[in-house]
Amino acid sequence: MDYDVIVVGAGNAAFSAAVSAKESGAKRVLVLEKAPREKRGGNTHFSGAVFRFIYSDVAELDRFVPNAERDYPGFHQGVQPYPVEAFRADLMRVTQDRSDPQLSTILIENSYDTMCWMQETGRMKFELALSVMGVRVGNEVKWPRGAMIRTEHEGVGLSRTWFETAEKMDIEIRYDSGAQRLALAESGRVNGVVVRGPNGIETINAKAVVLASGGFETNPAWRRHYLGDPWDHAKVRGSNFNYGDGLKMALDIGAMPWGHWGGCHATPINAEAPDYGVQHLTDKTNRLSYFLGVMLNVEGKRWIDEGADINSFTYAKYGGLILRQPRSLVYQIFDSKVLQLLEPRYSTSEPFKSETLVGLVNQLKVDHRQALKTLEEYNAAAARGGPFNPAVLDGVHTEGIDPPKTNWAQKLDTPPYVAYPVTGGITFTFGGLKVNQDAQVIATDWKPIPGLYTCGEMVGGLFHYNYPLGTGLMSGAVFGRIAGRSAARG
Ligand SMILES: Cc1cc2nc3c(=O)[nH]c(=O)nc-3n(C[C@H](O)[C@H](O)[C@H](O)COP(=O)(O)OP(=O)(O)OC[C@H]3O[C@@H](n4cnc5c(N)ncnc54)[C@H](O)[C@@H]3O)c2cc1C
Repeated sequence: MDYDVIVVGAGNAAFSAAVSAKESGAKRVLVLEKAPREKRGGNTHFSGAVFRFIYSDVAELDRFVPNAERDYPGFHQGVQPYPVEAFRADLMRVTQDRSDPQLSTILIENSYDTMCWMQETGRMKFELALSVMGVRVGNEVKWPRGAMIRTEHEGVGLSRTWFETAEKMDIEIRYDSGAQRLALAESGRVNGVVVRGPNGIETINAKAVVLASGGFETNPAWRRHYLGDPWDHAKVRGSNFNYGDGLKMALDIGAMPWGHWGGCHATPINAEAPDYGVQHLTDKTNRLSYFLGVMLNVEGKRWIDEGADINSFTYAKYGGLILRQPRSLVYQIFDSKVLQLLEPRYSTSEPFKSETLVGLVNQLKVDHRQALKTLEEYNAAAARGGPFNPAVLDGVHTEGIDPPKTNWAQKLDTPPYVAYPVTGGITFTFGGLKVNQDAQVIATDWKPIPGLYTCGEMVGGLFHYNYPLGTGLMSGAVFGRIAGRSAARG
């Protein structure tokens, strides 16, 4: 055998698996990365690197962010515990109770322990995700429970640290090496991969293979096939290497598709964003402060409740809803009362600006008369209840308009007014493979395929319709760690 374990892919899930395999006794571990070195790391590189995990006491967070109380007085008092039941409730609520019960239990129950493992074995450094999760209320910063900690330097740091840790552990990495097929022994055991690399086509043998090559978000043909219209036109937020290769390789040998193949994670992004993620821009095209204003489509209409929930629980489905609007274009409109609350990522583009609402809408590619009417009707209906508080579901709502805005519905009455053009960008796909508790891939005869494991975006069943922020990386780390351990032990 050339290797004990081959891991296909070089993102967070892949390295969780590779490092875990090595730690569990696999001597020769190979990571295959289809991308060239300068584009390595998949979606992990582009991510905001926020992790959602359980803790029963806020003191359990100190090991990750020891200076939190010093830097943000009141942190220990202000942050609520996030026990198993709370994580489960969030996951089930946003997935309409469809998250696979066995897999979600594994994910949730192993989340804290896996964070500790990433810190100790993975050598990750963490920080509070101030720019995206901290909400300033007066002089204080409020933190949501569950998802507020990220790796230092976000996805760039997460990805770089995994490569460094793997190199220190003598894990071999080959770039420009895309796996094309799984090699099978006559017994039916997976015993290697066929790879297209710098030296042409090569079969590399191993005792076990872990597939961690992401979903099919980059592949317009598969997006059209599985997600439907108009997903083939979506901009891709992250890597332009995730074409569903690993899924295809596994399905070709009889693996079972599992989960929501018609679903994906997609977010509101700058309408001018490039077609694929750009390494240095990472996740900065996101436009997630819509809950502080209103969104108009090109017909000049609101079509959604911008304040239905905390944006960590709506952003991943609103991207798709925006994409389905005419021309896949909407405008996020704010007045100057909330401008200082917009996520810092908004500073990466220039909005349209005006001292009057009419002056603003006249600059937009919308039905001007209808847009002004919508904003006037919104203003007449807004600001019921209160007081306004961006850190909680504040109940400031509209009355008598459809769709309503159920929280943070302040009037747009303080110039200057601004508008950001926004479209929907795809992040990753939800459809994947069925795995058991050992992250072993299950075939359509409901039996495990010997020698084949998977993790990360390739695991099906966890996410349906929507997704709670910070769960993708946590899932990749939990199932990657399990897959690596299982693969090493054979
Ligand atoms: C902009 C953005 C922001 C995000 N922010 C967050 C966040 O804050 N928190 C969170 O939890 N999640 C976030 N996510 C989602 C998260 O990044 C993904 O869920 C996670 O990175 C998936 O990890 P993975 O290892 O499964 O896939 P990836 O990280 O995408 O890695 C897949 C790897 O496989 C390689 N590959 C593909 N095909 C082949 C092949 N045939 N052979 C060899 N290699 C191949 C790719 O090049 C890549 O290295 C974000 C995603 C994006 C795009």
